[in-house]
Amino acid sequence: MKKYPTPVLWLKAPLAAAMLCFVTLLIAGYPAQLTQGQQSQPNQEAQAKAASGGGQTQGQVLGPAGEVWGFSNLAEIPGTPWRIHDANRPQPRVVSAGDAPGAAPSDAIVLFDGKDLSKWALRSRDGAISDAPWAVHDGIFESGRAGSISTREKFGDIQLHIEFATPVKVVGNSQGRGNSGVIFMGRYEIQVLDSYNNRTYADGMAASIYGEWPPLINVARKPGEWQTYDIMFHGPRVGADGKVQPGSLTVLHNGVLVQDHVPVKGDATTAAMFKSVTPKGPLVLQDHGNPVRYRNIWLRPL
Ligand code: MG
Repeated sequence: MKKYPTPVLWLKAPLAAAMLCFVTLLIAGYPAQLTQGQQSQPNQEAQAKAASGGGQTQGQVLGPAGEVWGFSNLAEIPGTPWRIHDANRPQPRVVSAGDAPGAAPSDAIVLFDGKDLSKWALRSRDGAISDAPWAVHDGIFESGRAGSISTREKFGDIQLHIEFATPVKVVGNSQGRGNSGVIFMGRYEIQVLDSYNNRTYADGMAASIYGEWPPLINVARKPGEWQTYDIMFHGPRVGADGKVQPGSLTVLHNGVLVQDHVPVKGDATTAAMFKSVTPKGPLVLQDHGNPVRYRNIWLRPL
């Protein structure tokens, strides 16, 4: 009588069990992959209806109430892990906009809200830090005394909103008229100046990257009128190859584009290419001896 090859059976049984486990896991894991990045589960009933051609477009991914969340079968977008209208693409986080145009959104760091300069300091040459001595009154503060002030906190890439007004009474000319400045990382200055009928060198007028790039246009308001800068700053950084990659500055002056993704190449005024690069630095407001007023300053780290 022929006997069963017992040792072979002993080997085959565990192998079959392992295969069964593997297939079960694959099936169980598939829906989890499908819904990755979504806040809740898609409506599988509506899904099935769509798949069976129940009046829906094939490939639609539907939410709990049957609303269209996106698709699963459209073309891949090159250079991304996503397809066009991909239902699994993560939703951007929610931020509340400010109450009025120019007001700080809910995720902003407010640097001046009309009350005090507690977010700012005076840094002496030896590194000592003391309270910012600029005058605060009537919801504004004013440059023109006791040296430039800088934020206590240091920042890297930021979006900045700042409002300023040069003196109502015109005194001086060229660089001596309403001069202050917004200096990123203590190095890259967007010039603040009264540039209304006030000739000076182009790379030193209002909204210039001082010593490097004039603004595209001169959209300065009259002396004494409130003006805005909205600035997107990306600092230079060291690339994977060890070389310094330029940063960039984009500036809206009174809502109008004046610096369009301009490379940040080196220190203002010296035109020197990068000597060193720091990941973060304070935001500085320059004191040039002129009484420039400021209000409503906020930023968002990028
Ligand atoms: Mg200046």
